[in-house]
Amino acid sequence: MSPPVRSRSLRGPGSEGPRETPELVIAGRAWFRGRLQPLEVGVGGDGRIVALGRNLRGHRRHEVGEAVVLPAATDPHVHLREPGPEQGAETIATGTVGAALGGIGLVGEMPNTEPPVDDPERLEDKEARVRRRAAVDVLLYALAATPRAIGPLGRRAGAFKIYLSPTTGIEEPPTLAQLGPLWAELLRTRLPVAVHAEAPSEFRTGLGALDPVGWDERRPARAEATAVAEVLRAPDALRLHIAHATTVATLSAARRRGVSCEATPQHLLLSTASGRNARYKVNPPLRSEPERAALWAAFQRGEVPILASDHAPHSLAAKERPFDLAPSGVPGLETALPLMLARVAIGQLALDVLQRAACDRPARLLGQPIGRLAVGHRANLLIVDFRRRRPIRGDRLAAPCGWSPFEGWEAVFPLEHWRDGEPIVEAGEYVGRPVGELVRPEFADPSIAPVE
Ligand SMILES: [Zn+2]
Repeated sequence: MSPPVRSRSLRGPGSEGPRETPELVIAGRAWFRGRLQPLEVGVGGDGRIVALGRNLRGHRRHEVGEAVVLPAATDPHVHLREPGPEQGAETIATGTVGAALGGIGLVGEMPNTEPPVDDPERLEDKEARVRRRAAVDVLLYALAATPRAIGPLGRRAGAFKIYLSPTTGIEEPPTLAQLGPLWAELLRTRLPVAVHAEAPSEFRTGLGALDPVGWDERRPARAEATAVAEVLRAPDALRLHIAHATTVATLSAARRRGVSCEATPQHLLLSTASGRNARYKVNPPLRSEPERAALWAAFQRGEVPILASDHAPHSLAAKERPFDLAPSGVPGLETALPLMLARVAIGQLALDVLQRAACDRPARLLGQPIGRLAVGHRANLLIVDFRRRRPIRGDRLAAPCGWSPFEGWEAVFPLEHWRDGEPIVEAGEYVGRPVGELVRPEFADPSIAPVE
């Protein structure tokens, strides 16, 4: 027990005037000022954090004991399959419930749906699909396919995505030589730009077995290195982000340029040795066990700026087809943070490293006032009891696809998830309503760059 102390507010930047009496005080422990300590979070009537401290007074009080209060996480890279033919595997409605249960309060939805989001009408269509159906907030990426399309899209979109290799919904990606004119237009929008960096010129055919080892040979790490090197020649002022880094070489190259990048749980935890069937087929491919171990060690050291799921569900039937015919991609939105919280629980990952990669930096990338315990931020919070580890069961996840490449892996799912000071998950069950909102970056300040 901590000794009684006078009410004091640990005020962050942005707080002004007399402190408002919190509507709600959530009392537990939190990583704050460099250590895990007892902390109370005061939530104002507008759903923002108004005070952080000890012995706060509020109209209501919620005690969570030894459980830990975390800012809700942001997943900047998901595919919710809408519109498209794969809505049996996922929809915006089901995917965002999975996000809520997995501790994700904001998802960045990618544009390579069918049809892709490559003009303002298609973007409007997707906006309409999000409204009144999403359980958490959604930021929509638009496709940066041609320079001419970027200006009109940039007035509505939350971010842009560039694919350098063919993927679902994108048959003719821009070549590396076509990037210059794209950068010039993207720069004007001031929006974040995420890049799928694999150079098809380095892909090889007719080699190796039809399994994850062979897939890694067909789309080798060299294809990633070539594309990353070219992408990193983009103008300095661009808010550039490299999606799904699979090698420490990509991490180092991005960091040398001060560019943001992300790694996924599948590339951090799974390798070509994890399994032989198409459930382990992803793009970019899973790498060898030594390469995976090196990426994980870098993540543990805090050298991976952002954790992202690249949630890309397909039906089990599609993934049980022969390896070369099966689609690439795995579900992971609901399990990304819980897998990592389980690593924290067993002492393999520092809580503050995870909090920066999953909560703080992705929110900065997307320009949102969330992701930190800070006065003025939205009270989007998780309550996590690290003693409650349980194995992942694909058939118990929210995603209709009903499977996970992490079947049986230990996870710590948040007990509670609060959005703007209201519970959307209680006792591990979704209790919210489809009130998620469309968001766009609220600030484009270079000082909030996700690489530090
Ligand atoms: Zn993706």
